This record gives sequence, structure tokens and C-alpha cells, in this order.
Amino acid sequence: MRFITGSSYEEVSQEAAKIFAEVIKEKPDGVLGLATGSTPLGMYRELIRLYEAGELDFSRLTTVNLDEYYPLAPDHPQSYRYFMNTNLFDHINIDKARTFVPDGLAKEPVVACAAYDMMIERMGGIDIQLLGIGENGHIAFNEPADELVAGTHLTDLTESTIRANSRFFESEADVPRRAMTMGMGSILHARKIVLIACGKNKHAAVELLKGDKITPQCPASLLKLHSDVTIICDKEAFLG
Ligand code: PGA
Repeated sequence: MRFITGSSYEEVSQEAAKIFAEVIKEKPDGVLGLATGSTPLGMYRELIRLYEAGELDFSRLTTVNLDEYYPLAPDHPQSYRYFMNTNLFDHINIDKARTFVPDGLAKEPVVACAAYDMMIERMGGIDIQLLGIGENGHIAFNEPADELVAGTHLTDLTESTIRANSRFFESEADVPRRAMTMGMGSILHARKIVLIACGKNKHAAVELLKGDKITPQCPASLLKLHSDVTIICDKEAFLG
């Protein structure tokens, strides 16, 4: 596990974009694993800037996203599909038919989750996976628990996640109670992983990544089992 600290959110975003840009240049038909949340926004802005500057070509890439609320329509403004379109895909030359987000309206979500992992495998796996981290150490919707699920699965949102995410919905009652999420196994299959964390509120979670302990009570700690993980964080997240 390699730590890089940036002095600001912009620097963290640029560092992360730099690593993604290298992979895109090396493998223009590769598979990018993408994430939603407030942390990746700066990196997406930087990738758009590099595209506009003529430095990056997304036309042959494939993307897969970590998770999606269930049930939620893809055109709902709080869906992760909508987030990806408006914050990245609409601004670059990617073929949207090759951008994948779990289907929040799947009639058989359990089958759809298994199919998602098979699809990733058929693509040849994820070349580089972007991750954020929750204050409690969650990764995507893999929340702290006694047991974690390896593959993509349907999961209940915890009360704290429903409360935290209600700020984006009209009311807490409008937050979907479930989500489809890649499991820690699906994530650990990626060839390269970049995790970004900014702000004091992420310090406790980042601290748990520094030691040598692994616990399902901090799903992010399982990343220590992977041989190519870069954690990019600002000083607040790194030092508290
Ligand atoms: P954030 O979310 O980027 O909005 O802080 C990260 C996460 O919960 O995974």
C-alpha cells in the first residue's frame, strides 16, 4: 500500500487523474472502475480538462461503476448513472453503450448482480479501480459487518448511510433502502486500485489503513491484501 499526500483537494484530484491518465494512455481499450460521491468530482473535472486539451482519448474505453441504489431509475437525479453522465460521460468522447452501472431497475436484482461480475470477467477484468472511503471505512456499499460478501450483491443500507445520503433527497423517506454493490472480492480483482480521501472526517478511516490489521469491521482494510493500491489523501485525512 502506497500513500501519497497532497496539500489540497485539487492536488489530490490531479494526482489521481495522473495515475488514471497513465493507464488510459498505456491501454486505450482498457476497463476503468469508477466511483461516485463528492471526492471523485475533482478528478473527473481534471480528466475532462485533459480530454479537452487533447491529451486523453476515451473512445475505446469501457467503464464499470461500483454501485447503484435499488430500486432507482437511471434518469433519477440521485441515481449513480445520472451522476456519472452529468459529471463525466457527457463531457468526454466515451461510447455510453460501454459505460456500465448496476441496473437500479433490474427485475431480478440478485441475478443481475451475478451477471455484473460475469460481465466484468468477460471484459478481462478491471485495469484500474477508483475508490472513495466512508468515515466508517466502508467501500462502495460494503458496510462494516461481521461478514462481508465477495461478489456483487444486493444489500440493505445501514441507518447511518440512509441518514447521511438523505441530504441529496427530498426527505429521508425518499432514500432507497437497498443498493447493488460490487463486493470486496469484485473490487480486489482489479489490477490496480486508487483510493482517494479528503478531509478531517476521513482521518479515522485512513488511520486504519496504515497499520497491518485486517477486519470486516473496516472493509477498506481488506485492500491490504492487494499488491497495487495507492491511497491519495490530503493532509487533513492523513494527519487528522
Ligand atoms: P464521499 O463518499 O466521496 O462523498 O465522501 C465516499 C464514500 O462514502 O465512499
